[in-house]
Amino acid sequence: MKIIGPFMIIIGLAGLGFSIFEFLTLDFHEEPKYFWMSFAAMPIIFVGFILTMPAIQRKILRENEGLIKGQSRIIGEGFKEGFVGKQKYCTNCGHSQNINAKFCSECGASFKNE
Ligand SMILES: [Zn+2]
Repeated sequence: MKIIGPFMIIIGLAGLGFSIFEFLTLDFHEEPKYFWMSFAAMPIIFVGFILTMPAIQRKILRENEGLIKGQSRIIGEGFKEGFVGKQKYCTNCGHSQNINAKFCSECGASFKNE
């Protein structure tokens, strides 16, 4: 099923190309023998595209899904670290501080002995 779609597009384009090539290289008195090919090729290309599109859409969706999941995980971790996980409170004034802070940004108290 994965190969049929692109295969039909290739066959259709080849048939279409061949019939156009034959049409362009004809002499005026000649009847085109393979002109029907372009009419046959159109629906083949069309069906080929219909068969190929869901596979392409799934592929795009799959690639983006991983990207979206990765991004939301990073954002989620950032939120957790920023607002919940890596916070501490000043024992002097109660102002919330980053876990790595050495001095309180509000009152200047030292966090050395914590
Ligand atoms: Zn403080």
